Amino acid sequence: MSNEIKTQVVVLGAGPGGYSAAFRAADLGLEVTLVEARSTLGGVCLNVGCIPSKALLHVAKVIDDAKEMASHGVTFGAPEIDLDKIRAWKDKVIGQLTNGLGGMAKMRKVKVVNGYGKFTGANTLQVGDTTITFEHAIIAAGSEPVALPFIPKDDRVIDSTGALELKDIPGEMLVLGGGIIGLEMGTVYRALGSKVSVVEFADQLVPAADADIVKAYTKYNSKNFNIMLSTKVTAVEAKKDGLYVTFEGKNAPANPVRYDKILVAVGRKPNGNLLDAAKAGVNVDERGFINVDKQLRTNVPHIYAIGDVIGQPMLAHKAVHEGHVAAEVISGLKHFFDPRCIPSVAYTDPEMAWVGVTEKEAKEKGIAVETATFPWAASGRAIASARTEGFTKLIFDKETHRILGGAIVGINAGEMLGEICLAVEMGADAEDIALTIHAHPTLNESIGLAAEIYEGSITDLP
Ligand code: FAD
Repeated sequence: MSNEIKTQVVVLGAGPGGYSAAFRAADLGLEVTLVEARSTLGGVCLNVGCIPSKALLHVAKVIDDAKEMASHGVTFGAPEIDLDKIRAWKDKVIGQLTNGLGGMAKMRKVKVVNGYGKFTGANTLQVGDTTITFEHAIIAAGSEPVALPFIPKDDRVIDSTGALELKDIPGEMLVLGGGIIGLEMGTVYRALGSKVSVVEFADQLVPAADADIVKAYTKYNSKNFNIMLSTKVTAVEAKKDGLYVTFEGKNAPANPVRYDKILVAVGRKPNGNLLDAAKAGVNVDERGFINVDKQLRTNVPHIYAIGDVIGQPMLAHKAVHEGHVAAEVISGLKHFFDPRCIPSVAYTDPEMAWVGVTEKEAKEKGIAVETATFPWAASGRAIASARTEGFTKLIFDKETHRILGGAIVGINAGEMLGEICLAVEMGADAEDIALTIHAHPTLNESIGLAAEIYEGSITDLP
C-alpha cells in the first residue's frame, strides 16, 4: 500500500547537517519530515565517523598513557585487549547518542521516514512506497569514502567504516593516505598492537595544515609509524598470505611489501549524484557536489543543500551551522552562512588543530601576516605532563595586529583551539589576548603567552 505525506519541509539525510536543520525548523514552528536510509539517526558522524573514532581513540590514549607511566615510576602490566568488549563500548557510545537523537526528533514531532529518498519532481520525493510532497527541501545527503579502482576487492582492504568495525588487529597494516582520518585510525590500531605504515603522496602528512605543525607531529611519531612521504601505491596484489603492495616515489621500498590489512583513507566523495536531483531541477556537478548561495539555496530556490554534499571542509560542525541557517532562512529569518573561520582538528597523538588563515594560505593569497609562537618546552603544564613536543602559534594581520588564525600541535590542541576561534570570530587583536588572564598552569596559557611575545611584553622564555 502506498503512503502519502505532505510536509512543509523535507530533510534528506539525518547526519549532523540534516538533524540540526530538521530540529531547528521544527523549533521554529515548521512541519518537518526527516528521511534517512540508515536505521538510526546521526549520519556518518555518529554512526561511522566522528564519534566511534573518538571512542576508540580514548581507548588508544589510555593504553599509551599507561605505558608512558613506567618512566614516571608507575608500571602497569601489558594491556590485555578484548576486542569484543572494545567494540561493545564503542557501540554503546554510538547507541546512546543516536537514541538520544531519536528522542529529540519525537519530542519535536519531526516525522522520521526510514528509507532511501529520491526526487521525482520539484516538489516530490519517493522513499520506497511513500510519496512525500514538500514546500521546501534541504538536501543533507553527506558523503562516502573514495575507493581506489586499482586496488582489488578483498576483505583485507578496508575503508574508515571497516576500520571502525575493529574485526581484528592486523600484524602489519598500511594506511593509504596521511590525512586526518587515516592518521586517527592508524593511532588506534598502533595502540592496539599493529605495526602501522602510512603512505602519503604529498611531501607532508595532513597537507591542509601548516608545515611546522605537521613537522612536530611527524617527529614525535617517527618511532610509532613507518611514514613514507612523497610516495604512492601503484599496485596491490592480493595473495593468500597477505596483500603485496608496490610503491613508487621518493621513499618507496624497492620491492613489494606484504601487509595483513590496508586501510584506504584517500578522501570522501559527495553523494549528490545519487538523488535524482535533476528531476527536481537541482544542478549537481560531475563530482557530486551541489552548489549553493550564502543562504544555502541551490539553483532551485525552494531547495537547499548543506553539509558534506556542498563541499569542503567536510566537517560535522560546519554541517550543523549550515543546517541551522537553512532552516532559519526557510522560516523567513534573514540569516546567511558567513563564518570568519571553521576549525579543523586531527584527534591524533599529539593533536593538530588549526583555524582561520594558515601561514600557507597567507602566502598563497598575499596576506601580510606576522606570527608568534610559544614552545611547550617552556610550559609548566606541558612539562608536568611529560609532553613538551607541542607549540602554539598565533597568526596576526601585520598592519592591524588583529588575529587572523592560529594553530596548535600538542595534547588537547583540539579543546584549546576554541579560544582562538572565538578570538578570530570576534576580531580580537594581540593586545586583547595578551591582556586576558589565563589560568596557571594550563596549556591554554600558551595562547596568552604567544600574544604577549608578539606584543613584546615577554622577551625571553624560561
Ligand atoms: P552525513 O553525516 O554523511 O549524513 C548523511 C546521511 O544522509 C547519511 O546517514 C546517509 O545515510 C543519508 N542519506 C544520504 N542520501 C540519502 C538518501 N537519498 N535518502 C535517505 N538518506 C540518505 N568531522 C568532524 O567535524 N570531526 C571529526 O572528528 C570527524 N571525524 C570523522 C571520522 C571519520 C572516520 C569519518 C568518516 C568522518 C569524520 N568526520 C568528522 C566528518 C563528518 O562525519 C562529516 O563531515 C559529517 O558527518 C557530515 O555531515 P552531513 O550531515 O553532511 O552528512
